[in-house]
Amino acid sequence: MVHESSSAEMHPSRWGDPAQAAPLADSARGLVEMVFGLDERPALTEVVVPPSRLEPAILAALEELLGREHVLTDDGTRRLRTRGKSTPDLLRQRAGDLADAPDVVVRPSSHDEVAAVLTYAVAHHLAVVPFGGGTSVTGGLVARREGYEGVVSLDLVRMKRLLAVDRVSMTATLEPGLRGPEAEALLAAEGMTLGHFPQSFEHATIGGFAATRSSGQSSAGYGRFDALVVGLRAATPRGELVLGSAPASAAGPDLRQLLLGSEGAFGVITAVTVRVRPVPVEKVYEGWRWPTFDAGRDAMRTLAQAGLLPTVLRLSDEAETSLNLARPDAIGDASDGGCLMITGYEGEPDAVAAKRTAVTAVLTGLGGVPQGEEPGRSWAHGRFHAPYLRDSLLDVGVLVETLETATFWSNAPRLYADVKSALETALGSPTLVLCHVSHVYETGCSLYFTIAAKQSDDPVAQWLAAKAAASDAIVAAGATITHHHAVGTDHRPWLAAEIGDLGVGVLRAVKAELDPTGILNPGILVAP
Ligand SMILES: Cc1cc2nc3c(=O)[nH]c(=O)nc-3n(C[C@H](O)[C@H](O)[C@H](O)COP(=O)(O)OP(=O)(O)OC[C@H]3O[C@@H](n4cnc5c(N)ncnc54)[C@H](O)[C@@H]3O)c2cc1C
Repeated sequence: MVHESSSAEMHPSRWGDPAQAAPLADSARGLVEMVFGLDERPALTEVVVPPSRLEPAILAALEELLGREHVLTDDGTRRLRTRGKSTPDLLRQRAGDLADAPDVVVRPSSHDEVAAVLTYAVAHHLAVVPFGGGTSVTGGLVARREGYEGVVSLDLVRMKRLLAVDRVSMTATLEPGLRGPEAEALLAAEGMTLGHFPQSFEHATIGGFAATRSSGQSSAGYGRFDALVVGLRAATPRGELVLGSAPASAAGPDLRQLLLGSEGAFGVITAVTVRVRPVPVEKVYEGWRWPTFDAGRDAMRTLAQAGLLPTVLRLSDEAETSLNLARPDAIGDASDGGCLMITGYEGEPDAVAAKRTAVTAVLTGLGGVPQGEEPGRSWAHGRFHAPYLRDSLLDVGVLVETLETATFWSNAPRLYADVKSALETALGSPTLVLCHVSHVYETGCSLYFTIAAKQSDDPVAQWLAAKAAASDAIVAAGATITHHHAVGTDHRPWLAAEIGDLGVGVLRAVKAELDPTGILNPGILVAP
């Protein structure tokens, strides 16, 4: 069975669908004016894309492999495949810096065409950057160009099929170029859901989710993406890898785990087999209020350790709650104080009711105050909207960016305090540092920070200094440098602090085996 699907492009220097972009709401604009002052910073409208460096003979050979219409060197296409969607990526695009533009964008339609491009790239020493949705926020699409004959953006946009469904085992095999909504639509036609809803859901792809170990907003119920993957197919410069022939195996270390999080540096993921669930019949989201962040976090731990996790579970700290960041429609409105928790339940009505009753009893017993369904509905309604708000804030001179980490429960208070302090010190006043617990496990949780500061004359350098300070604080606290955004180029300097030089050496050895001439995403994950 093969179903097709289609998609739309994002704006090159903003998030998402240009039709959904909107100026700041009056309440938010008033708040910005009061805290930071307004400083209009329009993006450049005329930008120059550096010319493609590729020889005509190379382009002709790629056209021979894929067809002329799937080998693109026009400025518009190459601009759209330049970097990802971190705030520095957007700021560089806004300033007209397209130095990282690929020399060509190629669009293979199958595993065999991907393999053929890799074989050609090895022979001609071309750097190859797999491109899914382009939502990387860690420099995962900014491959090193020095020493290569050119940079090829390998766009997976034509690989959008649902390849197989196994109703008995409840698995589905998807091609890598499917964006979140496209994958969900194809699965919904089969009565199934993947249940993976990161904030970038509307634009990120199945291959990208696997390559970065993404985690979605419903991870408490469905699991993070790497936990959903049961099988993978990848094309590497040394040949094909097909992994995952059973739900579990003792046949040595699990090589699927080498591909998950490999960020295009070991191979191009060309198919992903995932565990799926029936489409939920009922969805209920609601709010709880806690007197402090510590009290709410302890309640999350209690739920996780009791095996009572709802489908959605997130908790904003006092600062994030006061700004209503969990409810983008209400930003700038007065908040009721404390810390807002969102709980959500999805599934069969009986199962939803049973879980909700049990969770309610625990949360009430721990001192949580129920807020009803309105905050939950508001969160669900605005859950994919916050990235548009970032663009509107960048427009008026506010620097906005996020970072994430994770640690064990016992270390969470220290991690929270240290990262917050590092960001506040690095960014100076006025700065807002907001945080929420975004993902929970029996043994720990992920902390997701959002900052807002007045932009300096060089906002990219301003953020990179703050990010370095926060990253130093994260590794000093013994936490992970990334819970779900991956390593890319941005986190690479801190990777050895987490996995040791020997650990980095193991990654290098894997790369040397699969990609001996180093054509795949040079500089991403491991140094060339
Ligand atoms: C506004 C915003 C919100 C976000 N929210 C979340 C969130 O809630 N949770 C979360 O986990 N992440 C989030 N992210 C991060 C981002 O969406 C993820 O990293 C995403 O998983 C990347 O998918 P993509 O298809 O966009 O991949 P891309 O950005 O195109 O690529 C990411 C990396 O994977 C490689 N790659 C892509 N496809 C393949 C493939 N088929 N084979 C091998 N390598 C490949 C690329 O070369 C690159 O190194 C957010 C990002 C933004 C901008």
